[in-house]
Amino acid sequence: MYYGIEIILIFILGLIVGSFCNVCIYRIPRNELIIYPASHCPNCNTDILAKDNIPLLSYILLKGRCRNCGSRISIKYPVVEFLTGLVYVIIYQIYGLSVQSLIYIILSSALIIIAFIDLNEQIIPDVISLPGIIIGLTLSFFVPYLSFINSVLGVVVGGVIILVIGLVGSVIFKKEAIGGGDIKLAAMIGAFLGWRYIIISLFLGFFLGALTGIFLVLSRVKSREDVIPFGPFIVLCSIITLLWGEKILSWYVGF
Ligand SMILES: [Zn+2]
Repeated sequence: MYYGIEIILIFILGLIVGSFCNVCIYRIPRNELIIYPASHCPNCNTDILAKDNIPLLSYILLKGRCRNCGSRISIKYPVVEFLTGLVYVIIYQIYGLSVQSLIYIILSSALIIIAFIDLNEQIIPDVISLPGIIIGLTLSFFVPYLSFINSVLGVVVGGVIILVIGLVGSVIFKKEAIGGGDIKLAAMIGAFLGWRYIIISLFLGFFLGALTGIFLVLSRVKSREDVIPFGPFIVLCSIITLLWGEKILSWYVGF
């Protein structure tokens, strides 16, 4: 376990990147540039002052409202920042100062962006998942924990599992339950994590997604006709798997 100043620094790094993730989550579906113009209030369009743009802290100090027009700022912004910081800290606790930590930090940031875009807009952007597949495959040449073969198998296994489940689902429910975006997302995660971890990620994702779907329908938050995006469940469970995959496997084998 690591304690002290390095953990605080990693958490702050996560908050800052999380703040950048928020910009991507908002702008990528709108086809806007990421770095220009400056952040502005979506309601009154006023530029957000630097002192009001501090991750997490500004939201708390402004009580979740725009300083200029007083309109509510979505709770999703501080949630994304906090989640990114939290995931960074856990990755660092498990993998320490290593190449693996660095890659997992980049991967989980991309996955957090994808999950929240899918939650907001029900799309998974190709501009992240397609380059992600190429980057994952390329990195496998340079890292000790994943071979190129394993990375290729991860892409194929991830894509095929989602494809088959999507086809079966569309026959049973007579509507498209899983989109092409989910296939590319699973292929991207497979490229980074290999075939074993992508199977665990998707299995957990379906389990959690189905449970959540049943709960939402039974509690009448959603009707049976509503589409519940599946991407966030894949993302959540693949982050759980990259953190605790070996524990999950040894627990499963011990059964
Ligand atoms: Zn405003």
